[in-house]
Amino acid sequence: MNKIIIATKNAGKLKEFKAFFGEYDITAYGLDELSQQFDDIEETGTTFEENAALKAETMVGHLQVPVLADDSGLEIDALQGRPGVYSARYAGEEKSDQANMDKVLEELKDVPKEERTARFVCVLAVSQPGKETFYARGHVEGTITEAPSGEHGFGYDPVFQPEGYDKTMAELKPEEKNQISHRKQAMVHLEKWLNDQAK
Ligand code: IMP
Repeated sequence: MNKIIIATKNAGKLKEFKAFFGEYDITAYGLDELSQQFDDIEETGTTFEENAALKAETMVGHLQVPVLADDSGLEIDALQGRPGVYSARYAGEEKSDQANMDKVLEELKDVPKEERTARFVCVLAVSQPGKETFYARGHVEGTITEAPSGEHGFGYDPVFQPEGYDKTMAELKPEEKNQISHRKQAMVHLEKWLNDQAK
């Protein structure tokens, strides 16, 4: 493999993946860098794996080159794993981070601290023409706080306190979050797979 398409329009994620694959002499391109543009693929799956594979495999069908796609979200134990794959649009299609956090805090209002356990999950899927899709899953455990705090990050970061920290994800510096994040953990698995491929 000497090139891969990253099925994201998120500039921050793309930059991270370009640097990551660059170390393996693999050039990564974002969807916006392709001469042809494609409609967004609807995330109709019920698992992170299904959604990531759906995006990666659909793009391989169009392009016939390796494609990486990701899916991520927050699983809260007291809510039977919700918001899960619906994390981005939990409070509605307008995908408001504030409304999503408000909804989660309201649903947890009677849940005591020790039962507010949760995890961020990230799944990366790499699909290649004629090959089985590879999956890398990463997670970070933590608890949901009673009120939002912190200005960094995005999504549910202000209400998520990672295990072993007395700060929320949004109070950590971006480089601290990146060291422990679910995305980082998934990339560690991807790195191992790439090393095995290179052998
Ligand atoms: P996607 O994988 O980019 O579709 O993200 C799904 C949703 O999960 C986001 O819109 C956020 O609500 C949530 N999420 C995923 N990763 C994070 C994170 O690192 N911090 C906070 N929220 C996240």
